[in-house]
Amino acid sequence: MIHPGSTALKSGRSSGLPLMVFLLTAMLLTFVQIKVERPMLLLERFVKGGGWLEILLIGSYGALVAYKMQDPGKVQAWRKYTWFAFSVLFFSQLVLGLSGFERFLMTGKLHLPVPMMILGGPIYRGHTSVMSILFVSTLVLSGPAWCSHLCYFGAIDNLASGGKTRRGPIRNKWALKSTVILMVILAALLLRWMKVPVPEATILAGGFGITGLALILIASRRDGKMVHCTSYCPIGTLVNLTRFVNPFRLVIDPGTCTDCMACTRFCKYDALHRSDIAARKPGLTCTLCGDCVSSCHAGSIKYKFFRMTPRASRNLYLLVTIALHASTMALARI
Ligand code: SF4
Ligand code: SF4
Ligand code: SF4
Repeated sequence: MIHPGSTALKSGRSSGLPLMVFLLTAMLLTFVQIKVERPMLLLERFVKGGGWLEILLIGSYGALVAYKMQDPGKVQAWRKYTWFAFSVLFFSQLVLGLSGFERFLMTGKLHLPVPMMILGGPIYRGHTSVMSILFVSTLVLSGPAWCSHLCYFGAIDNLASGGKTRRGPIRNKWALKSTVILMVILAALLLRWMKVPVPEATILAGGFGITGLALILIASRRDGKMVHCTSYCPIGTLVNLTRFVNPFRLVIDPGTCTDCMACTRFCKYDALHRSDIAARKPGLTCTLCGDCVSSCHAGSIKYKFFRMTPRASRNLYLLVTIALHASTMALARI
């Protein structure tokens, strides 16, 4: 929702950004369509040439999302539904893959769909995976947007936590996060060292995923914030610690912020509390999701990309992030 007093937030939608999202998405997918030997676009796997139709459809989807999200007041709702749709598509493909329809799978082989595997899997196996490479690439291109637009699991936490937060800061968050990530690394090393077979290691990883799901259903729903993503998931912690490899930032303008604290109820990533407002920047767990931007009556919450204007910075962020979101929608996964 845009506060009526805010002049800085009047987006003045234009067709420029949607068009650019369409073109960038189409370009990324055309590259995949031409260069990757095994067809990666889903329609191409069923009908020869179908990939081109899919590029057109997914590019148009990206353009529509960009058009809507140009308005900061629409971001929270559109991010929630498009991210959840992404997750539904992902898990539907998994179910189809499990049912024997291997054409829905990226490599024809199944992997456990728990984000922790992006870190634990390569340590256990001793080599990287397609998912790890995809993760690092998106981190470089759009910073922490992995945890606000691209992860199949986080969309569930986002949905479960509802619209506004109901609790203050998560206590001992960093102690919890550090403990979990260290335990995951140590466990993966130990499993590898002890040569624990894949089925047993998979059961352990599944247990980690189910615990996370329970946390979503109990704690995130109760607190109205993404407790799973901000205090349990080791990939979230990895994103928090490495997000500065990417130059996109969110800042609070010291010249206009009135310290009213209205925005703090809009951050489900536990990154916008009194201390963060005082520091004039969100906490480390900020994912640049944009949910808080329209909550500020003074338009003080702004995207920053080097010396570009806040509006141009935000548009660039939307361009990169939505094109990545749309492109990954189009591909076979897992
Ligand atoms: S914190 Fe973990 S589950 Fe949540 S969005 Fe990030 S990677 Fe996904
Ligand atoms: S501070 Fe704002 S942009 Fe950052 S995670 Fe919280 S709501 Fe999203
Ligand atoms: S950023 Fe805006 S909403 Fe948040 S405390 Fe400052 S003036 Fe209030």
